Amino acid sequence: MSYTLPNLNYAYEALEPHFDKETMTIHHTRHHQGYVNNLNAAVEGTDAENETLETILKNISKHSTAVRNNGGGHYNHSLFWETLSPTGKTTPDGLLAEEINKVFGNLDELKDQIKQAGLGQFGSGWAWLIVKYNGTLAVVATANQDNPLMDTNIANQGYPILGVDVWEHAYYLKYQNKRADYLDAFWSVLDWNVVEKKYAEALGKLK
Ligand code: MN
Repeated sequence: MSYTLPNLNYAYEALEPHFDKETMTIHHTRHHQGYVNNLNAAVEGTDAENETLETILKNISKHSTAVRNNGGGHYNHSLFWETLSPTGKTTPDGLLAEEINKVFGNLDELKDQIKQAGLGQFGSGWAWLIVKYNGTLAVVATANQDNPLMDTNIANQGYPILGVDVWEHAYYLKYQNKRADYLDAFWSVLDWNVVEKKYAEALGKLK
């Protein structure tokens, strides 16, 4: 089995002015494509060739650094693109909204915690909303292309349902050093419909 770059559900310029066309184009066609190519090379001829990416990530401590970096890179970016939309739902509803209110108090507090997680991630990484294996929501950050599925993140393990890329390649052309402004803009292009769907899928896997 060979990994391929997923198509976006929108044009590169569709998320303007929040995410600019040039960043989106380079990010998808060069950065993400690079992770896909390197992941294919890293798993070729190994047992990992016959495992799903989720299984590989959940057992990442058994794999090479190349699989960890590029398997994470492919998974993280695929989730990121999927949750973005120029016409997304601006607030969550239903069970997810109830859980957010229960755990964080309100949506603004969740947004602030994700912003602080993104700002607090020194260097490159991601900020996440996850469903922990006990079923509760949590905000966590990971370095590089690690993610909360990985068994190396023992304290923060769970299913990611929303992730924000805080590598400089995700925002530098438009926002330069202003990571906070990029993290604020993220909410304007996030589709909570998709996050609700990811939440339901994660709960389904815990049953
Ligand atoms: Mn990226």
